[in-house]
Amino acid sequence: MDFDFPNPVKIVQRTARDFARQAVAPLVKGMEENGRFPKPLIKQMAEVGLLGLVTPRKYGGSELGFLARTVAIQEISKVSAAVGLSLQVHHMQSAALVDWGSKEQKEKYLPRLCRGEFLGTCAITEPTGGSDLLGMASAAKPAQGGYSLTGSKCFITNAHLGGAPLVVVKTGEGSRGLSAFIIDRGTPGFSVGREERKLGLWGANTGELFFKNCRIPEANLVGDEGEGMKVALKTIGEAGRPGMAAIALGIVEASLEEAVKFSKGRTLYGKPISNLQAIQWGLADILMDFETAKLLCYRASWLKDKGRDCATHMTMAKVYATEAAVRASRRALEIHGGCGTMMEYPVQRLFRDAMVCVSAGGTTEIGKIVMSRAVLS
Ligand SMILES: Cc1cc2nc3c(=O)[nH]c(=O)nc-3n(C[C@H](O)[C@H](O)[C@H](O)COP(=O)(O)OP(=O)(O)OC[C@H]3O[C@@H](n4cnc5c(N)ncnc54)[C@H](O)[C@@H]3O)c2cc1C
Repeated sequence: MDFDFPNPVKIVQRTARDFARQAVAPLVKGMEENGRFPKPLIKQMAEVGLLGLVTPRKYGGSELGFLARTVAIQEISKVSAAVGLSLQVHHMQSAALVDWGSKEQKEKYLPRLCRGEFLGTCAITEPTGGSDLLGMASAAKPAQGGYSLTGSKCFITNAHLGGAPLVVVKTGEGSRGLSAFIIDRGTPGFSVGREERKLGLWGANTGELFFKNCRIPEANLVGDEGEGMKVALKTIGEAGRPGMAAIALGIVEASLEEAVKFSKGRTLYGKPISNLQAIQWGLADILMDFETAKLLCYRASWLKDKGRDCATHMTMAKVYATEAAVRASRRALEIHGGCGTMMEYPVQRLFRDAMVCVSAGGTTEIGKIVMSRAVLS
């Protein structure tokens, strides 16, 4: 058993770490103040290869795989989980097209995603269908040369930054009644709604998409008609959940660093509070959560890269890491005492961001249903 990363993954880790420090860190204050994603960052992420990590070389990516992606998202999210979310959803659309796209779709969209012409977007959730995918109401009906789509999507990451979102809607009834489409920006009947304000992950763009008699050419159907459920489940399960897990891992690591730094610097009773046993136990708890989440995240991504069954491991990593991020950031915040509640200390942001990660990408309850089904079968 080898716990060392292969060299290419080490290089990605170093690149992402440097990029996070140099390009992302200076933007965090602004994102916290105005809640907006800094658009120039998209091209910068493309230039250092972050956008094409899971895309084959022949379509402009580096094909370095899911372990490299996890490590990159972790490094970015240590500095800004909001940028981590934008990046992880970008990879979700790339992965969906790699898995399900036609040759023409891959040639048309993947290079543009790698170049950072726009960010990737996957639109599945809508007001009547979150955990309950089949509860969605948006529907595409056959129309001349393709389909006509009417409906809406909500809580969509990169809604305002995407150029050709992947959208899953109804084309029939039951689990074979969903289909996936690419909707090009500018298609008549397609519009983007409001930008949401969230508890955390400020700066990650979240919004609504609207479709009114929106004409989609047959060529934009992703996979076969009726395969939308499979597209959604594989994309969420094997790209979305590990992506959220990696963001949460970055938050846990940042929480540990903030807690250690503060506890060494804060003096009470004439000594740093890191001398107090209760504080030491808190640090030990965060450390254990970090190491456990790390093992789950890396192993799940490694299984995916080996082409092995990974969906349950991805779900375990997502549920464990996001819950660990809430525990760790809360503990770190408590170690800060009153300072932890002050906006100038990053630990409050870590706690708010962690809370948002729990539901994004599928809730803990749904994750436990997925895991228990695996163990029962
Ligand atoms: C920041 C953010 C970004 C997001 N980005 C995207 C995106 O890019 N694309 C996209 O499509 N979606 C996105 N989402 C939506 C996200 O996937 C959903 O919020 C999530 O799947 C939960 O759905 P819901 O919000 O409708 O909650 P609901 O499904 O309404 O759940 C409400 C509660 O009921 C519980 N529950 C539901 N079903 C069961 C059950 N069977 N047993 C027990 N408990 C249950 C849930 O766990 C939860 O506690 C994003 C969400 C957030 C917060």
